[in-house]
Amino acid sequence: MSQEESRKAFAEARKYLPGGVNSPVRAFRAVGGDPVFVRRGEGAWIEDIDGNRYIDYVCAWGPLILGHAPAAVLQSVRERLLSGTSFGIPTEIETALAKKVVSCVESMDQVRFVNSGTEAVMSAIRLARGFTGRSKVVKFSGCYHGHSDALLVKAGSGAATFGTPDSAGVPEAFARETVLLPFNDLRAVDRAMDELGKDVAALILEPVVGNMGVVPPAEGFLQGLRETTLRNGSLLVFDEVMTGFRLGPGGAQGLYRVFPDLTCLGKVVGGGMPVGAFGGRREIMRLLSPEGPVYQAGTLSGNPLAMQAGLATLTEIDKPGFFAFLNRTTQDLVNGLASEARRAGFRVQVQCVGSMFTLFFNPDPVTDFESADRSDRGLFARFHQGMLARGVYWPPSQLEACFVSSAHQEAEIGRTIEAARQVFETMA
Ligand code: PMP
Repeated sequence: MSQEESRKAFAEARKYLPGGVNSPVRAFRAVGGDPVFVRRGEGAWIEDIDGNRYIDYVCAWGPLILGHAPAAVLQSVRERLLSGTSFGIPTEIETALAKKVVSCVESMDQVRFVNSGTEAVMSAIRLARGFTGRSKVVKFSGCYHGHSDALLVKAGSGAATFGTPDSAGVPEAFARETVLLPFNDLRAVDRAMDELGKDVAALILEPVVGNMGVVPPAEGFLQGLRETTLRNGSLLVFDEVMTGFRLGPGGAQGLYRVFPDLTCLGKVVGGGMPVGAFGGRREIMRLLSPEGPVYQAGTLSGNPLAMQAGLATLTEIDKPGFFAFLNRTTQDLVNGLASEARRAGFRVQVQCVGSMFTLFFNPDPVTDFESADRSDRGLFARFHQGMLARGVYWPPSQLEACFVSSAHQEAEIGRTIEAARQVFETMA
């Protein structure tokens, strides 16, 4: 398969864009080779500018739960586009999406829309600090919460992959307000809370981690965090940018029945358009400007095209049987991959929750960043290259989640497992 046009496009892009990309993991540094440039997408498939087709397990890094270019979303966005692209004046579609979001996510009475997951988390943390009058934030190694200053500390996939877990340009004083703990270790949380006590404004986590690969919470972990934060008067913040509307209409909190004070959303809620959101109980949300003293704003926030794409997407996933089908498809894929890997003699962990999964080249279960970091990145790079050459687009880093969409059908799953069988065979 020739990727000559992509190679040329990348060389041209590098002249004008640092590293040739607008977000680092796209550059393929962790797996070698040049990135492919995409021309179009349809359903489970993408096509690069050389005309090669791939089954896509990145799905825009999570948003495209219906696959590429779903008719229902395109049609409604096309109609809305004819009325104009942005106003900065209230529109009814904002309320319509807000209503849908709070009806699905149990702990949210109100929501504010922003333009990215980073913005959602950054604003939720400011709100938590404003509400509690405290400054420290507890986060977990390997959880990624966007690239805002205070949260870019041991932040999983992108940063960890490049061996620079902390970014240059983040003042130490900011990072000092962030307390780092190992994921799934309730005792460490209790010790830290005892020590820091009344300084902790918020404890934030991905309730199911996707950013060190997929790592589910240990039995009782989320419940334990809920109890500790209630005792301490700190807010519990679930970053459901990845898991929201992905693990079910109610996100991870709906699945595990543990409810945070604030929830951050992104990805699926925007149906492939730039949307983030955060929300929670009314008594907290009323502190936001213009009702309260916590300032937050955005020229393009609640953009009507983005709201429309989100609403069309959430309407589709709310249909009966949607998640049962999606999760069953994912389970078939995951089972197939695991058995092919083992047949070829590889010791792997295929960790899956709902329609997110990671194939770790790791002999032991991955429960936190330390164990994720022991995965064999060299083997993963070979796997990635082999899959790409056979028409399967895998996320270009070992510590990422793969996403399955409702457009992935039996035929795509079968082809993926067959491609993996061949790749494992060549690697063995
Ligand atoms: N939180 C989580 C859990 C995420 O996965 C991401 C993005 N991968 C973000 C926050 C940041 O979102 P964005 O890239 O839209 O700024």
